[in-house]
Amino acid sequence: MLIDFTGQVVVISGGGRGIGRALVERFAAENAQVAALDLAFPDPLHGDGLPDGIATITCDVTDAESVRAAIKDVVKRFGRLDVLVNNAGINVEGTVETLDPARWKSAFDVNVLGVFLLSQAVIPIMKAAGHGRIINAASFAAIIPSIGAAAYGASKAAVVQFTRVLAGELGPWNITVNAYAPGMIPTAMNGFAEMPEAAQSRLLDTLSLRRWEKPDDVADLLCFLASDAAGYITGALIDVSGGKFATQIPSRAYEGLAG
Ligand code: NDP
Repeated sequence: MLIDFTGQVVVISGGGRGIGRALVERFAAENAQVAALDLAFPDPLHGDGLPDGIATITCDVTDAESVRAAIKDVVKRFGRLDVLVNNAGINVEGTVETLDPARWKSAFDVNVLGVFLLSQAVIPIMKAAGHGRIINAASFAAIIPSIGAAAYGASKAAVVQFTRVLAGELGPWNITVNAYAPGMIPTAMNGFAEMPEAAQSRLLDTLSLRRWEKPDDVADLLCFLASDAAGYITGALIDVSGGKFATQIPSRAYEGLAG
């Protein structure tokens, strides 16, 4: 299977750091013209800029005007827009009893409203072209609840249902809409890599493949989903979590208890 995005334009929100940055670099390596959207460039946490050739466009995904301007800028620069990856997201933690309502709201503003606004902005362009791919970052947290993750989990579950509805609405225009569920990738969002070893080990024990996920594990899936090879997949939530959903207590297999 040959994946080559020559001539195609891919827009990635939250492209300045973390998984989004890896997606930007990967789609560019697969010959796409890439526009990275983020709150600021260079990313305040990542430090250095993106490679030459990437269009960096400042955009707050929670602000309808900022989103409209960013998509207008993409079309002005490239003349088309084939793939939208709604990657920008924030993690909000806190038990329901203690969580500040403002933080609940920010989780839904970035993780849900942001996906809605960017999708809404690209729909007319994709409809006019008669094709398109919208790919939304969900999470295993959309399916598996965690203590202190009501806001994050509920917002990601909303992304999954949004994805299904939009897939139905855009099917007649040959536009596919899918969501993906990564597992645990150490990034600034979660600080997994900085946790004490015992805590890291406990988390890894929940994975059948028992290693931290790499941004490229997500990039592999997204290149497939954005390609012609995935033309008949829509409205799906694709698990790319290393086996978070596979079985309870997967560590038993590593302890030799499975035989
Ligand atoms: P990071 O926190 O490393 O990166 C998130 C990016 O989104 C940052 O560049 C951030 O910008 C940007 N962003 C935040 N708010 C906005 C906004 N309002 N407008 C535009 N951009 C914004 O996160 P990850 O790379 O870890 O996560 C990427 C996506 O993957 C998220 O949707 C997350 O929920 C999902 N995910 C991640 C998992 C993981 O293990 N890491 C697991 C499951 C899902 P800035 O730097 O300026 O804040």
